This record gives sequence, C-alpha cells and structure tokens, in this order.
Amino acid sequence: MIYKIKEYKNKLIEKAYREGMKEFNKFFGINLEYNKEPDICILNSRKEIDLLKRYKSERWVNAFVIGGKGNIVYILDNNRMEKESSHKKHSDNEYSALIKHEICHLFEHVVSKNCYKPLWLGDGLAVYLSGQLKFYNKINTFSNFIESYDKYNKSTYTEGGNACMLLIENFGKKKILRLISRSSEVNNKNDFAKLFKKIYGFDLSYKNFNNLLNKNI
Ligand SMILES: [Zn+2]
Repeated sequence: MIYKIKEYKNKLIEKAYREGMKEFNKFFGINLEYNKEPDICILNSRKEIDLLKRYKSERWVNAFVIGGKGNIVYILDNNRMEKESSHKKHSDNEYSALIKHEICHLFEHVVSKNCYKPLWLGDGLAVYLSGQLKFYNKINTFSNFIESYDKYNKSTYTEGGNACMLLIENFGKKKILRLISRSSEVNNKNDFAKLFKKIYGFDLSYKNFNNLLNKNI
C-alpha cells in the first residue's frame, strides 16, 4: 500500500503524549526519545486499522502500536469511535489515558525486547500507568487474568490492571520491570509462573492476588 500523510495538530493529544513520554521515561528508566521519539497517527476508520494491521481486526480494537524502529502509536479518531468501533466516544480524560496506554506499550517493548506475553502483564501495566483504572469498575476478586497469557479475555485489562497496581504498590517497580525484561526468556504460561515465583517469592495464583486485594481494601 502507498499512504499519504499530513500533519495534524491537536492540543489534547499533544498534552497526553508529552505527559506519557515524561512519566514513562522515568518509570522504565530509559530514554525512548534518544532512540526515536514516537509518532502518533490518528486513524479514521476500521478499514484503515485493518490495512495497517494487515488483518481483519475486532471491533473493540481502537488503538495499537508498531514498536521497534518505527515507534508509532495508531489510534482511532475519537470522533469516529462510535461509528468505527464497539466503544462510545471517550471523554477527554479517557482519550488522553488511551494515548498514554499505547505510548506505555512502546516502553514495555523496549524493556521486554518485543515480547508481548503475558498479555495481562503488558496490558495490565499500561492500564495502571496510564490512569485507566479509574474508568473501570472496581473488582472484588481475581479469577481470570492468569489465563490471559497469549489470548485476550474479559479480565486482561481489568484484573491485569489491578494485579499490576498491587504488585507495584506492595513490592515496588524494580521487580515488575525485572519480570517484564525477563518475560522473553520463557515460552509458556507454566514457565512464566516459575519466573514470577523466582522474582516475587510467592506463587502466581488467584489466591495470593485475592489476599493482596483484600489487604488493600
Ligand atoms: Zn494495550
């Protein structure tokens, strides 16, 4: 495909982008701008998303990144959200958080050496660090997220976000960064659970996360 690109100015997006870059450079301890400052590309339609992804995407997909040397965040225009996705038009705060969520993935990909698994960890951390948790319903129990290793499920974002929050609040950011950076060394859910135990000293189980959650309330 051949594309024609024109510059687009938008204060809200610019602000979220600057905030995200500053916060994540600090959290991940890397300087992404040094390598290649990311670009943000606003898309108008499902068709454009599918052309770039090179497959038919599901209706809930409203943003994605292409990391590596490209470092591009693709995001559906908020004014097209209702028509072109299964989402409602986002509030300014929700849309800013979505932009930050995607920028966070670019940082994660550097730290993880482009490993996307487990999905609950990458997306959970992006949900938590971008401030999206406040837009989700509170959870009472963890019951599903660990299954979301290489497949999305209804808990990838909500439980994953809360799980990452509890890991950071209780054990700091060093361990979770180590977990992400070593995630490329394992190939499946069971080996990841072993890596988790090695770093945190307790089993990756719903029981343990529910204990953390109850302590937190
Ligand atoms: Zn994501």
